[in-house]
Amino acid sequence: MSGKITFTMIKPDAVADGHIGAILGKIAEAGFKIKALKLTQLTVADAQKFYEVHAERPFYGELVDFMSSGPIVAAVLEGENAVESFRTLIGATNPADAAEGTIRKMFARSIGENAVHGSDSDENAQIEAEFHFAGKEIF
Ligand code: ADP
Ligand code: MG
Repeated sequence: MSGKITFTMIKPDAVADGHIGAILGKIAEAGFKIKALKLTQLTVADAQKFYEVHAERPFYGELVDFMSSGPIVAAVLEGENAVESFRTLIGATNPADAAEGTIRKMFARSIGENAVHGSDSDENAQIEAEFHFAGKEIF
């Protein structure tokens, strides 16, 4: 069964490049409802924990440095089949491979600095939402 919730971050590259409004606009236009939202910054320890599944990958150190380098926007989104439909909206990890009109195609700098995160499963969406937000911050 497909869940109604996903978790996203607008990553430091897209925040620094001034794309918060445009990306939230694309999310709203696609029909997602915002359940939680904040501007925040990950510590190095937060980024290490959030991406610990990638700890053995060669890009892990670079990813942790990048994700803790500046402010991000964290959000919980609601929509039908939220995880899968949001990943379709953001496009492939590498913006060079992302479909036209996707958020990564439009706003990402590179495969590492790729504008947005999207959860990859219902289970991880729940874990990631709870990592970033207290229960009373999710509406
Ligand atoms: P996705 O974010 O599309 O689910 P992954 O879970 O595979 O992608 O990777 C997590 C994040 O790690 C990516 O969004 C990207 O920021 C970074 N990343 C992935 N692959 C690379 C790579 N080859 N080089 C640098 N950074 C990468
Ligand atoms: Mg992933």
